[in-house]
Amino acid sequence: MLPSSDIESFRGALASAKSIVILAGAGLSAASGIPTYRDADGLWRTNSIEEVASIEGFKNNPSRVWQFYHQRRELCLGSQPNPAHQALASLADPSVLSRIAPSLKDTSLPPLLITQNIDDLSRRALDILPASAKKAAEERFLEMHGSLFVTRCTSCQHSQRTYTSPLCTALGNSEERDIPVDQLPRCGGETWAGSNRYGRCGGLLRPAVIWFGEVPDHMGEIARVLNWCDLLLVVGTSSRVYPAAGFASSVKMHGGKVAVFNLERSNGDDDADFLFLGPCVETLPHVLGL
Ligand SMILES: [Zn+2]
Repeated sequence: MLPSSDIESFRGALASAKSIVILAGAGLSAASGIPTYRDADGLWRTNSIEEVASIEGFKNNPSRVWQFYHQRRELCLGSQPNPAHQALASLADPSVLSRIAPSLKDTSLPPLLITQNIDDLSRRALDILPASAKKAAEERFLEMHGSLFVTRCTSCQHSQRTYTSPLCTALGNSEERDIPVDQLPRCGGETWAGSNRYGRCGGLLRPAVIWFGEVPDHMGEIARVLNWCDLLLVVGTSSRVYPAAGFASSVKMHGGKVAVFNLERSNGDDDADFLFLGPCVETLPHVLGL
């Protein structure tokens, strides 16, 4: 059976859902001007994306990798959450939630929002919420591929969220060049003075993003929540590629429904219950009735 694009029946599914999970992908941030890795590749003089998105690439040339991520941090800091990010954020507002999804087990508990994006825009969109709702929403927000704004020490593993840019003086120079390792972001900062304490050990920092060959974050928690989920919204990514395909089949196996919001149709979306084609900035707020 072909997926339905009937807004009223989707709203009916939303109204009767007891547990909702949202999985967001690159399409969510497209309208904010965030290019995907593949697109960014074209903007960056590199032979392959693996050079900047693998631990081997980082070991071979940490200077190049850090310059790549510095550029992306700058790009994201200069971009704004769009109406699709805001639509998802507003689902964490108890007054909105109790209106459009009154059957939820607990309307003070926002739907779990899982993003594959590392751009921080879904987190920044939570700023539209009242303080208490924002706090609850942050606890229900998982960045499964990490974040451009979190660093992790390659020695002591200390991780930290920071919006300071550039992260160190050498990265402030926009020319692509070879930066010596001791001038790249390091644990304890540029004023590090020989301590070996946790979080100040002087080790080389890396971006806390998931690279090729690394296991995504929060998979255990996600699997647990999917067991109870009866409505999965797949936003800005095909429901047929990893990880959405796995999430969708897990939800379907337990009798739940899957709704896809994506720019274009992809092979196999036929398995979804609902399909809304078009830019998420238009479809999401409209279909959710916000
Ligand atoms: Zn360290």
